Amino acid sequence: MGASGESGRPLLAVDVDGVISLFGHDRPNEEAPGDFHLVDGMPHFISAATGPRLNRLGQTYDLVWATGWEDRANDHLPAILGIPTLPYLTFDGEARFGTAHWKLPAIDSYAGDRPTAWIDDSFDSSCYEWAESRRSPTLLVPTDPAIGLEEGHVAALESWAADGYAVR
Ligand SMILES: [Mg+2]
Repeated sequence: MGASGESGRPLLAVDVDGVISLFGHDRPNEEAPGDFHLVDGMPHFISAATGPRLNRLGQTYDLVWATGWEDRANDHLPAILGIPTLPYLTFDGEARFGTAHWKLPAIDSYAGDRPTAWIDDSFDSSCYEWAESRRSPTLLVPTDPAIGLEEGHVAALESWAADGYAVR
């Protein structure tokens, strides 16, 4: 058992809007192919490549949804992406599109002292200050909301965990 929690694995907090559900791109999205899916009556462009990438990351990390979608992420995304249902954080109505600071208390509490990575398109200075202040290894992985979770992010997250949480 390592210092990284009960499973001995690091945690990965996963945003949805701007990571899996993309926006702000040209259509068709040549950099991140996918399809529109109706989610609660709203069309969302879901990047098809994110399913296999999340499954790969699930071999190294314990994934948790960190999104304003909360439990609704499990209602829609596993079937679309071919991924397992995941634990999810809740935010007591604090969710604000285009920002991420409201996620900090929930992520901090859930992560405890585990090594934690977080992938999101909306980090602000308070997120980086939080990462700096943690005593456990912490990695923030920003995405372009038009492209989302890319191959390079997966490789960086895999090597961060494999290299003892050293940033190169
Ligand atoms: Mg987002």
